[in-house]
Amino acid sequence: MEEYKTKFHRVLFDKDTGNYSIHLLSCDHEYIKVKRRYSNGTLHIHEQCKKCGDFRGGAKSQNGVNMATIPFAITPPHTWEDFKEERTKLIDRLKKAQKRIRDAYYKTPEWTKKRALVMERDGKVCQACQDEPATQVYHLNYRHFKNEPLFDLVAICDRCHTSISKMDKGENYTPIKHD
Ligand SMILES: [Zn+2]
Ligand SMILES: [Zn+2]
Repeated sequence: MEEYKTKFHRVLFDKDTGNYSIHLLSCDHEYIKVKRRYSNGTLHIHEQCKKCGDFRGGAKSQNGVNMATIPFAITPPHTWEDFKEERTKLIDRLKKAQKRIRDAYYKTPEWTKKRALVMERDGKVCQACQDEPATQVYHLNYRHFKNEPLFDLVAICDRCHTSISKMDKGENYTPIKHD
């Protein structure tokens, strides 16, 4: 399992199976005293994380504080858009790496053998519609990728595969027909 951190995320990537997970990093806050000018013009002391801009608690006592030495509060250095942009790029990159790993597996003799066994078991008929001839072998899940028990695999037709992919993505799909 490969593990690394980007600016905002911790990534776990299994180089063998291409399975991955992405976790948003939380800030390990480093609070400092800052001053904020209120709308009535007065200055007040607050505690703010200098990394993410989070404020802790309300106004603090100004007793014995030399206001001139206190920096002004910062505006948060990152926006939600920054997180989202990194995440989108990260997922795109991971999906490409995953596809390379999966495609390489589908060229191995092990996969060829498994595929033939599943086709034979399912009588070369699509197990989604029980109507069309099966044209491919589909993974019900990728948890056991490269070491699949045969019950994780099922023969299906192109039409049903397209419908299932669209369903999973929440897109409009042609319902699977059982004539
Ligand atoms: Zn913080
Ligand atoms: Zn089908």
